[in-house]
Amino acid sequence: MSNGKIFFMAVGGAQEVGASCYFLKLGENNLLLDCGCGSTRGIRFAPKFSALLDTPYLQDFHQVSHVFLSHAHLDHSAALPDFLELNERAAVYMTDLTREILSAQLEERFDKIQCNISSVAFLQKIPLPNMRISFHQAGHIPGAMMTLINFRGKNILYTGDYSTFPTRLVDAAMLPDVKIDILILCGLHARHPNYRRFGDSDSALKKILRRIRFALNHGRGVYCQVTQISKGVELITLINEFLPQAEIFIDERVMKIVRRFENVHIPIMREQNHPLQFFPRSPGVVLSTYPPPVHSSLEIVNGDFSLHDDFAATVDFVRRVNPKICVVVHSPPDKLFHAETTLEQVLINDPDSRTSFIFPNTGEPFEL
Ligand SMILES: [Zn+2]
Ligand SMILES: [Zn+2]
Repeated sequence: MSNGKIFFMAVGGAQEVGASCYFLKLGENNLLLDCGCGSTRGIRFAPKFSALLDTPYLQDFHQVSHVFLSHAHLDHSAALPDFLELNERAAVYMTDLTREILSAQLEERFDKIQCNISSVAFLQKIPLPNMRISFHQAGHIPGAMMTLINFRGKNILYTGDYSTFPTRLVDAAMLPDVKIDILILCGLHARHPNYRRFGDSDSALKKILRRIRFALNHGRGVYCQVTQISKGVELITLINEFLPQAEIFIDERVMKIVRRFENVHIPIMREQNHPLQFFPRSPGVVLSTYPPPVHSSLEIVNGDFSLHDDFAATVDFVRRVNPKICVVVHSPPDKLFHAETTLEQVLINDPDSRTSFIFPNTGEPFEL
């Protein structure tokens, strides 16, 4: 296969969320970007690694030399032990914080793969044969990184999940100061023209706070269910800031991550925050990743909110980066509004945009 060519294939997580895993062949170098799991109706699914061997790119999993892991959400990270069973030699790169959070989530599965992992820092550069690679702050959750690959003069940026707005725990994404030729975009809302993010100061979080405040003021306890462990940590900091008197009782899954954050000197817990050992008698907030108990006198509050750019912000981001090619992944169709408009259709009418788009399917190879 010719040396300067660039091939891309989504191994999972193409036009869906879950099992994010993207293969890049840069000349003789074979890389994976992320290695996650998904689940539909409680059934776990991993990337289709075997599809790689059906391509002319790879004869053996050991030819994949490097894996870059963007962040600790399980849809980007949980299949890493599965891949390392196929290729125990692959070198894996992630930030220290991703490593901390992931080890708390994968537990003994993680201990077995520790020796493959190298920690990297933002703006750190690593030289590999014919490539230079650097890592950049992605926003979204603590530790999340974008990966920039310079291969034969071309810049390829993989965003992972990112946010161009700050969250309670991390600053906004910081783009590398170079011209990007190929953008591999985790565009969760790239096909959701009617989706608007309701940010920190805005609706979703305000609504959660309002409902908690209302219940507590009326002497009732609250059961707040969070959909992702890191969102639980965000909510602790939010409640501590805006309802400083509220007692918070935190389930063990969220507590584990809180401890990891505190290990790397991000303080979360305050005096009025406690691990959830029993259901509190005094009105307080139970913060849990589990569904609420069936017979409960607690007020049930849905603790979900978005850590992703909305449609308009996604369009702005791609307009700003203005890559030659944008490969859009992690990009489910619009089930809610059944809208057909995509990021591509907006930018096609923009005279300053030079971008052509690819919305790949899983297992579909492209030469870029
Ligand atoms: Zn994520
Ligand atoms: Zn994701």
